[in-house]
Order: sequence, then C-alpha cells, then structure tokens
Amino acid sequence: MKSKNSISRRSTLKGTGAVGALTFLGSKTVHSKEETLANPDLNYYASVIREKVFQKVFQTPFIDTHEHLIEEKDRLSGTRHPEVKSDDWTMVFSHYIKADMISAGMSQEAYDMFFSPGVDPLDKWALLEPYWPAVKNTGYGQAVSIALRELYDVDALSAKTIKRVQSGYEKVRRRGFYKYILCDLANIESCQVNSVDEPFKESDMPTLLMQDLAIVGVLTGLGLRQFSEPTGIELNSLSNCHKVIDWWFDKYGKYAVSVKSQHAYFRDIDYEKVAAEEVEAIFKKTVDKQSLGSEEAKMLEDHLFWYMADKATEFNLPIKLHMGYYNDNNCMPLSRLISNPGSATDLCRMAPEKTFVLMHICYPYYEELISVVKHYTNAYADMCWAWIVNPIASKDFLKKYLVTAPANKILTFGGDYTPVEPVLGHATIARRGIALALSELVEEGWMSLESALETIDPIMHGNARRIFNLAEKAKVLNNVRWG
Ligand SMILES: [Zn+2]
Repeated sequence: MKSKNSISRRSTLKGTGAVGALTFLGSKTVHSKEETLANPDLNYYASVIREKVFQKVFQTPFIDTHEHLIEEKDRLSGTRHPEVKSDDWTMVFSHYIKADMISAGMSQEAYDMFFSPGVDPLDKWALLEPYWPAVKNTGYGQAVSIALRELYDVDALSAKTIKRVQSGYEKVRRRGFYKYILCDLANIESCQVNSVDEPFKESDMPTLLMQDLAIVGVLTGLGLRQFSEPTGIELNSLSNCHKVIDWWFDKYGKYAVSVKSQHAYFRDIDYEKVAAEEVEAIFKKTVDKQSLGSEEAKMLEDHLFWYMADKATEFNLPIKLHMGYYNDNNCMPLSRLISNPGSATDLCRMAPEKTFVLMHICYPYYEELISVVKHYTNAYADMCWAWIVNPIASKDFLKKYLVTAPANKILTFGGDYTPVEPVLGHATIARRGIALALSELVEEGWMSLESALETIDPIMHGNARRIFNLAEKAKVLNNVRWG
C-alpha cells in the first residue's frame, strides 16, 4: 500500500543511483520526529537507524563475487547460445526460478513449451499462471519480480501486463544493456564470472566481467578435452595432464581473479593429498578408456585437486569452493552436503598457506560455516546465491556472522545468474537483507550505529577488493588484448 506522502520510486532512483532504497524503509516512509511523537506506534529511534543504514547500503557499490553471465554479444545473438533457449521475456525466468516452477508442480511438457522459441511469447503466461502464485514470493520469484518492475515498469505479472513485459524485454535487451543493468541500476563495480562456456572466458568487458579459472572440468574428467584441445598437448599421461593444467595457469593466471570449483555437486570436498606416483597408472586407465573403481577415481580427483590448488597458490589466487545447496530438482543428497563444512576444515588445516572462499553460506548448514571462518585464518565466507535461496536465513547468517567472526572475511554478494536481468533483483534483495541485518543489530543493542555504518564498505566491496587483489587485476585487464 502506498501512503500519500511516500516518495515515488522513480525519484528515489535518481537520488541514490541504485534501485529502491526507500522502497524498503520499514513502512516505506521516513517519519519526522513530530509525526512520531504524535503517533506512539511509530518508533522514531528505529526509523532514524533504518534511514541511515538503508541510505548508505543502497548507495554503496557492490563487488559481485560470483556470476555465470554469458557475454553480452552472445545474449544479443539470440538463441545461438545454448543458455538462450528462447529470446523473449522467459529469458528472465531461465535460471533458478525455473527450479521453483518445477518444484511447484509444473510439468516437463509445460516447462519445455515455456522456454520454447516456437511458442508465441504472449501465450507463455498461461503456462506459468497456475504456478506463479506459489513461487512469486520465494527469493527466486522476488528476484525476477524486481527485475520486471525496475526494468519494464511492470508491478504484477498477469494476462494484462504480459505484453508490456515482452515489449520491455525487447527494449532493454540492446547493445550496452549489461552496463546499464549492472552498473547504472544495480550499482555493481565489477563481477566475477565463472564462465559456462569455457575454463576461462576472454571477455569483451574484461574489467566489468572479471573471470574465474574454472577447474571443475578437470576434476570430473568431463571437461578434460576442453582443457587439452587449445593447448595442443595430448592427454596420454598424468605428466601431460599436469602440462595442460600448467598451460591454463601460465596463460590466464594473471588475468583470473580466482580458481573456482563446484565439484561438491558430484562428491564431498574431502580431498586427501595423493602423490603423482600413486595415480599415474590410474590416469593411464582413463586414457585406455577403462572404467575406474570409486576409490581409484577419488584418488585421481584428490591428486588433481591439490595439483591445481598448488598452482592457484603459485599464482596468488584464492580457491572458491561450492558448498551446500544444489540447484535444479530431485538430485540433492543432504547427507553429503552436511559433510561439506567438516571437510572444509580439513582442507584449511592441510593447506594453511592457501585461501579458501567457501560459497553460498553452505546453505542450510550456515552455522557450521560461521564456525569454520571464525576458527581458520585461511577460510572466508561468500554469501553469493544465498540471498535468493533463502533471504531470511541469509539475513540471519549475516547478523550472526558479524557478531561471531571477523568482518574482514566475508563477501556479501554474488548474483550467480546466467541472464543479466535478475542480477538487478538479486542485488536489491541483498541490499535489503544487509540493511535489515545491520539495522536489527543496532536496534537490538549488539552494535553501535557508527559501527554498523563503518561495516558497510568492507562487506560490500572492500573485502573483495583486498581478497581478490582487484586493483592489480584491473590494471592488467585494462590493457589486455586477447588473442
Ligand atoms: Zn554458481
């Protein structure tokens, strides 16, 4: 509900340079002291705290430490890129929210039609309509709703508004729209992209879309060919496999911001140190296309993990590890995920010289993650993805984290999206959560207002700049000419 004296959304946009600061101020209106005194229901003290904290959080730029954004030119080339199933408004729904749609009961047939380029975009609303009420309030649902509101000026999805959504999609999806959405609207300074295309993407916007070196393909073996082909080295021995890995680090180590692995989608991260001699014969078996026993496979993966972790340290790169919750549906073994924090403590102890960035608050095991980062000097927490998985748990995590573990070891935002549009929604949800967490800490007496305000810069960008060496990376990337 809008009160008469509330400030319009469009005017707050101009004032803050970011989306929706005042939209989230408690009752959406900042009350004067006189108003408050006249109405005992309003808490003047609380509204002053919230005004100051929300203003600062919504004006402060994020470093976005995790994305899967495809290149803008690939978005503009339509369905030629495999991540662009259908170049219409459903593109905004093409990541994360689709898992909630399936979970809510959407059939595979309806799902396939929804993302089909062969179906009229305006007919697609009828496919989503039965499930939208069930998913619109999840973090995934809110992220897309905010994107539709801020980008296309559509407050609620319906048969009446779907035409406006589609024409808004077409209008926004133009050359330069990455910078418009990420920088001008979401107030993001730079992103860290884990490319879905190749181990390291030579981006057209290298200082905005900074890149991780993605190593999971080596660990699963599924991407080994993708790694070896550009090197011209034949993958016929373990030592040649090492040479292939070396090639990627030599070529891209100075440009990459980190080394990233989501191997936890396949197994626990309980990597033991295994010497090359112990796995040479096992690697040879893979060359000869013989299948490996599970113990053999684990030994080889363990060896390759530490080989690449050592390379990461040689190139001064933090190691980002997926922890906790799984995307998609009907595949998540919680009994395995619950082991992730314990295994992370083993990694930290085995390699005190390495920096481990532990991602996604290890949802739902986030208390465990706080204890890991509090205890281990080389463990860092990254809240990427978490705000849309469970916004309230993420607020709870941040409140608890800030009164438990050092504030210089937390990263508070990563959109984790392949389409760029919902990054704006995610960033807005994250800012709201950060501002609420800090306001509540002050209101509850755990932190002074001054401390809360001082904490905003480090947790939103300062820590990321330091941990990933971003000033130096930007210098190198500013002058890069790929190829
Ligand atoms: Zn991710």
